[in-house]
Amino acid sequence: RTAPGEAPPHRGLLIVMTGASGVGKGTLRERWLAGQDVFYSTSWTTREARPSEQDGVDYVFVTPEVFQEKVWENGFLEHAQFVGNHYGTPREPIEAALARGQDVVLEIEVEGAMQVKGRVGEDAVLIFIMPPSLTELRRRLTGRATETPERIEKRLTRARDEIMHAHAFRYVVVNDDLERAVNELRAVQRAEHARLRPA
Ligand code: 5GP
Repeated sequence: RTAPGEAPPHRGLLIVMTGASGVGKGTLRERWLAGQDVFYSTSWTTREARPSEQDGVDYVFVTPEVFQEKVWENGFLEHAQFVGNHYGTPREPIEAALARGQDVVLEIEVEGAMQVKGRVGEDAVLIFIMPPSLTELRRRLTGRATETPERIEKRLTRARDEIMHAHAFRYVVVNDDLERAVNELRAVQRAEHARLRPA
């Protein structure tokens, strides 16, 4: 940490985790970031909250109207539609965290990750999380029991599309073994900190 009034030597890293719904991004992120001073970006969504979810923690839950207003204000770094709902990354909290020198982690679907790539370019660290197989992905989505069978099918169709985009990202981590995958994420973060970038 820097003393008050003293500029940090570097901006934080903008790290984007992407990949299909059900691939385990959330679990990986929790394990990876436990005990680290990293800023996790809480997204906005128009989806209804699941019983286990808390407004302001898991997501900021908003109406389509409030979401659209934020789009008009250019308040999102990226936003996308996913199986009938809107999801977006609010711009300001991220900017503030990066300026403080904190690393920022986004956990978003593939279309949004492609937008970040287009807007932020080489400075964004893009990581694609790959499921061991589509069969395993189906098993995980079904096991969650938070979605109707119809919505699970829609998520799986989307997953097939998303996996086709894996090559667009700098890193691909296969989530077959949790510990190994978490270690790979830590290795990516360390390696990216060692790269030379302008302060
Ligand atoms: P879920 O409804 O399962 O919480 O999320 C559906 C998908 O939307 C997941 O792949 C999740 O990572 C993604 N997602 C969550 N927040 C955002 C966001 O701010 N932007 C984008 N583009 N996708 C998001």
